[in-house]
Amino acid sequence: MKCPACHSELDVSSFAGIKIAACRKECGGLWIDRFQFKKIQALKPGIGKSLLMIERSEGIKIYRGAEHICPSCENTLLHRHFFSADQDTEINQCSKCRGFWIDLAGLAKLQSLPTNQRERAVTKYFTNIIEKKISNMRLLHDDMAQQAKVLAAILRFLCPEGEETK
Ligand SMILES: [Zn+2]
Ligand SMILES: [Zn+2]
Repeated sequence: MKCPACHSELDVSSFAGIKIAACRKECGGLWIDRFQFKKIQALKPGIGKSLLMIERSEGIKIYRGAEHICPSCENTLLHRHFFSADQDTEINQCSKCRGFWIDLAGLAKLQSLPTNQRERAVTKYFTNIIEKKISNMRLLHDDMAQQAKVLAAILRFLCPEGEETK
């Protein structure tokens, strides 16, 4: 499977029973297919935080509009839920296989802040994403509320401050 953002080969591994394809040592994005959603929703927040801190290379990322191809379907374009160059974050989903492509490099950077600043910054980051994400959710044939719920669970799974964010 190729990374939709930088075309490197994705590294598939199992983490807390969750199968994740990661663009390790390259752009740092994560691919999570729909078979993992139920399992992720059952996990405690923060368990996947080491995935957030995955090794990344600087400058390898290619943001070019919303034209990312689904790494699994290969002929479907990913639907963009959220994108911010400032926050170095992108959340896309395939409307066919429903897999999520998630790049939270901006959130990973916040982890280097001192504890007293970090919690606030992370909360702000999440508020920004969740609000924009929901207003941008326009999947054509999908249960949007359900997808929003799944996405929130994935973000909590990856975030070290998962329990403080809603
Ligand atoms: Zn990549
Ligand atoms: Zn797909």
